[in-house]
Amino acid sequence: MEGELITKLLGGLRETAENLPDKRKASNGRKYETADFLMSAFAVFYFQHPSMLDFQKAMEEREKRNNLRTLFGVETIPGTDQARKILDGIEPKELFPAFDRALETARESGALESYRVLEGTIPVALDGTWYFSSKEIHCDHCLSMNTKKREGTEEDTRYYHEALCAVAVKPGKPVVALPLIPEFVRNEDGKDKQDCERNAAKRWLKTHKERYSGLKLTILGDDLYCCHPVCKEIREAGMNFLLVCKDGSHPWIAEQVKYSLPQTHEKTEWNGRNHLVYRYKWVNGIENRADGETMSVNYLYFEIYNKEKGAVTYKNSWITDIEISKGNVGNMTACARARWKIENEHNNVLKNHGYNLEHNFGHGKEHANELFCLLNLLAFLFHGIQRLIDDDYRKAYEHASRKIDFFWALRYEANRYFHKNWISLFLTVSGHPPDG
Ligand SMILES: [Zn+2]
Repeated sequence: MEGELITKLLGGLRETAENLPDKRKASNGRKYETADFLMSAFAVFYFQHPSMLDFQKAMEEREKRNNLRTLFGVETIPGTDQARKILDGIEPKELFPAFDRALETARESGALESYRVLEGTIPVALDGTWYFSSKEIHCDHCLSMNTKKREGTEEDTRYYHEALCAVAVKPGKPVVALPLIPEFVRNEDGKDKQDCERNAAKRWLKTHKERYSGLKLTILGDDLYCCHPVCKEIREAGMNFLLVCKDGSHPWIAEQVKYSLPQTHEKTEWNGRNHLVYRYKWVNGIENRADGETMSVNYLYFEIYNKEKGAVTYKNSWITDIEISKGNVGNMTACARARWKIENEHNNVLKNHGYNLEHNFGHGKEHANELFCLLNLLAFLFHGIQRLIDDDYRKAYEHASRKIDFFWALRYEANRYFHKNWISLFLTVSGHPPDG
């Protein structure tokens, strides 16, 4: 694709950025200022490097050129304080078109189709993640919790921000999670009760059902979402579900399973060290009910028995609205278990990397921290799509032995040396710098 892909992805973000209401436009006549700020902030998250802007400013002074201009189309590099102030006034929904454009690109290229692995649907994991936490810094929209370390000590208040992330995942390798638009768990003015993840999930479904129902998604989630109202909301959004269902928290379902005749399937695999017995058990047509309403769901139980150890090393159970059969039970379980990838791959990026980046940018009063979270997710989506279908990117990625080394190499090149385009950057990182 020769750099076309990233150029196209960035084009979608640029267009979104240029359509943002520019509150300062009238005062100084600089039309593209907000777009420059947004693209600069995005570059920080794309390279996962808080000092990106300083390095590019230094390059501009030294060489009268810089990579933010060639790679991201930024005319004037802002300071982080300026960027935060501008971004603070942008509502998260203003950035949604950038996610839509990126997903459209992934769809057109076929990258998204490779995620259609569960009965023709794309598994999307919903999961709440803290992306900011502090004892001192907070705003009106922060969530908070009191932590008491020991009896007799004073209570501490911890402030945090949480996003309900929605991420397309699939079993197998490579592990590439593709984030969709998240929903923020957020305290609004004048509300006594703190917002929560389950409410955020209901809002996400309502807000995005038209946007995503055509994609045919199956929602994966933990036990927290396994309740009649959320299941109903998912169905009404035109999606399917596959949700963890612990016996302890759903005694009514457990009771029905106990007195039914389940279907079973078993297979044994040698993993090079041990014989693992995969045991599947399922019951179609269980009643899930609440508030006088019922819905028919299907129950799935799975365990792995290690013959050499003589012990069950993994077990879990789920409910789904997809009919379970011997033909699909193995794949369905693999999809359900792929949900952990969101934590390993995706939430780590938000927590460990985005977290530091955000601390560097600051918190803001209204939306700045949410904007940083969105830009981080969007950067993650761009990297995911590139990893799947951009050959130059893939060569650069595979040249590094670990992901962390790839990012290190990318930053090193971008911070120190001028690159006239993305191809030049990726070829250099892959060990084959272009001539000239
Ligand atoms: Zn806050």
